[in-house]
Amino acid sequence: MYSWMDKIRAVEPYVPGEQPKDSKIIKLNTNENPYGPSPRIKDMSLDTNMFRKYPDPRAGLLVDKLAEYHNLKPEQVFVGVGSDDVLAMCFMTFFNSGKKILFPDITYSFYDVWAEMLRIPYERKPLDKDFKIVKEDYYTENGGIVFPNPNAPTGILVSVDFIEDIVKNNPSSIVIIDEAYIDFGGETALPLIDKYDNLVIVRTFSKSRSMAGLRIGYAMSNPVLIKYLNDVKYSYNSYTMNMPSLILGSEIIDDEEYFVNTVNKIINTRDRFTAALERIGFSVLPSKTNFVFAAHKDIPAKEIFDKLKDRKIYVRYFNAPRIDNYLRITIGTDEEMDRVISELLQICSATK
Ligand SMILES: *Cc1c(COP(=O)(O)O)cnc(C)c1O
Repeated sequence: MYSWMDKIRAVEPYVPGEQPKDSKIIKLNTNENPYGPSPRIKDMSLDTNMFRKYPDPRAGLLVDKLAEYHNLKPEQVFVGVGSDDVLAMCFMTFFNSGKKILFPDITYSFYDVWAEMLRIPYERKPLDKDFKIVKEDYYTENGGIVFPNPNAPTGILVSVDFIEDIVKNNPSSIVIIDEAYIDFGGETALPLIDKYDNLVIVRTFSKSRSMAGLRIGYAMSNPVLIKYLNDVKYSYNSYTMNMPSLILGSEIIDDEEYFVNTVNKIINTRDRFTAALERIGFSVLPSKTNFVFAAHKDIPAKEIFDKLKDRKIYVRYFNAPRIDNYLRITIGTDEEMDRVISELLQICSATK
């Protein structure tokens, strides 16, 4: 033990999915998008001399573009370095009452890490036996509420009415809806920000827009809450968004056609892949995301995970209560998912 130990902010860190170097690996473990961002940024050249200056602290280029895209005022949009940064800022800004914040027991595994790091008390509310959120669990005194819709890693979507009930029943808490996967077939709760003053919607460019490497996320809410977010951001690091992300991120927003096409391809592949998994003995939760969460009826998930890895297919396995027999498999291209199915067929027949 060191004598300075009591001065350290010692945390149990979030464990991101592996990023292997071998390009032969079929990488389906971190919900990246196989198609890449809109090709309209391929030949863009950036005047590198501009990098000598600090970027616009307001991130105006991107904020204005997103406001226009979503029919909002720029004062209703906050951008950050991936939605992880935006969510961490939200936790810092909105969860300060000392009361417990609430989120599901099975959900994005960063929430409890931020709560621990920021010393925010929290309580996990169990999903029901079908892995659904029980909304009445959130009708209790709390310091704030956060969950993804669709939820991760289950992939299960709730309706806008469901979210409205939670927001309406919690007028004195901020409710954060993490819409990381909403573009893959869900209905957004965004219109509710006009009706309620306690709702924040968070989005990312990492999944549906295939830009995980540029780190762009954003929040949408009323101007009052966005102002509080910006005040915290300016007090912490004023220049979070780098110039290439601002420029390239704004540029791809204009290519709606490419965006819709690639998202639809992933949705089709997901539905085809789900049916194929079911034919070989998996039960698959109904997903509205770019991944599926599946358990095999006979073979333990960890065993399948290891065998897929030997065959250079990386998926995600969580050694956690209730979900340790499930695999989370990102939807790649049709060819990639066909490979997964043929490897799974071999693994399953060899294990019988
Ligand atoms: C991927 C993901 C995020 C974070 O995405 P960024 O790459 O940081 O924008 C946030 N929430 C959920 C539920 C996610 O799956």
